[in-house]
Amino acid sequence: MEEKPRFIPYARQSVDAADRAAVAEVLSSDWLTTGPKVAEFEAALASFCGAAEAAVVSNGTAALHLAMLALGLGPGDEVVVPALTFAATANCVLYVGATPVFADVDPDALLLDPARAGEKITPRTRAIIAVDYAGQPCDWDALRDLAATRGLALVADGCHALGATYGGRPVGSLADLTCFSFHPVKHIATGEGGAVATDRPDLAGAVRRLRNHGVTTDARQREEAGTWFYAMEELGFNCRLTDIQCALGLSQLKKLPAWLARRRELAARYARFLAEIPGAEPLALLPGREHAWHLYVAQLAPELAGEGRRRVFDALRAAGVGVNVHYVPVHLHPYYRRRLGSGEGLCPRAEAAYQRILSLPMYPGLSDADQERVVEVLAGALRQVAG
Ligand SMILES: *Cc1c(COP(=O)(O)O)cnc(C)c1O
Repeated sequence: MEEKPRFIPYARQSVDAADRAAVAEVLSSDWLTTGPKVAEFEAALASFCGAAEAAVVSNGTAALHLAMLALGLGPGDEVVVPALTFAATANCVLYVGATPVFADVDPDALLLDPARAGEKITPRTRAIIAVDYAGQPCDWDALRDLAATRGLALVADGCHALGATYGGRPVGSLADLTCFSFHPVKHIATGEGGAVATDRPDLAGAVRRLRNHGVTTDARQREEAGTWFYAMEELGFNCRLTDIQCALGLSQLKKLPAWLARRRELAARYARFLAEIPGAEPLALLPGREHAWHLYVAQLAPELAGEGRRRVFDALRAAGVGVNVHYVPVHLHPYYRRRLGSGEGLCPRAEAAYQRILSLPMYPGLSDADQERVVEVLAGALRQVAG
């Protein structure tokens, strides 16, 4: 019997002995949650991403949800979001009773097009959420101009882009609020985890309150003050990140610069390989940015859109290569079709790109040899499907 090839996922965490030791240390300490590792991780994150403050929360979706609440958004408000993103970017708007309004992406890098975003602004619009898709920063100068002239809050869904820069400035310092995820497929892993980075102490304070039931002090502050009294000022949630997770995050963050370098090296190698393979090419790289390469997205030739892409996808999966498609445009999900009456034609560039994109394996632990296997299998699949 032929041996099944080892599966190469599209993304994967890297966890080493230092990470395990950091977690074990917390497990023997007094604080499993709301302890000293939380503030330590927050300070390290804020410093890494160039923000005055970072507030950690239970996951990236919670980061987006609490960002919407911190901005005071609610029923009657509209928030412009890109069509090509993970559903959570738009779901967070619905969580607070506001309405997501989908804007199209540019056709080459698949980032929110500031001109298209501008066309979606109405008197009800209160904010824009832009996504640094795949890890490449959006046109933040244009987005900041747009937000400033129209009086809107600007939120970065930076879940793909921890470690990216725009005009030399890190993602985390470009919008009013920047949301990150520490899911194992992202740049650093805490199991589940997320953060909101901001320069505004009022917004950071709001996120810290909202993650803790809307209460103004946490358990450790009360213990230190020798008091039982706490004041619940608003309706919050339990979106806390544990000390166990923060210790893991701190340990992971130390390795992030080396991991980003490896992601960039893998991306450069993919670009060289793809230049030799007919039928697939990288997305456009825009000037003035350092890409963080959460995803490596290849775009198949127009004649392979739809059915061809499905056959290439199937051939890669059958050969043990964990390709993926990021993303189904959010407005085409059944829930959004029902809820907002959205459908084909609303964001034609995102819809066209969706038929041709394929995420290839990209993570720091991917070996040169495994990457070469991915490229060989892809080249074979493209030959077969195009032939
Ligand atoms: C991963 C991701 C999220 C959500 O993060 P979770 O930690 O999985 O909740 C939100 N937006 C984008 C663009 C993401 O990739």
